Amino acid sequence: MKRRCIVCKKPINDGIIINSKAICKCCEEKLINSYVQTDFYEYYKECIKKSVIEPLLKESVLDLQENS
Ligand SMILES: [Zn+2]
Repeated sequence: MKRRCIVCKKPINDGIIINSKAICKCCEEKLINSYVQTDFYEYYKECIKKSVIEPLLKESVLDLQENS
């Protein structure tokens, strides 16, 4: 299965990987070139939160349930 960018959802071949989630070069560059208070940056942060942090939280909850 091809990786998809968590921001623009396009299939990608290269880019940065954060915790097995991928961000394409295009979005990475947009982020680097955007100032902190832009809508894109806010959107990007939301995507990271949803794609990287929330699944991790769910996994740790599952681990807790399995161990109890
Ligand atoms: Zn992208």
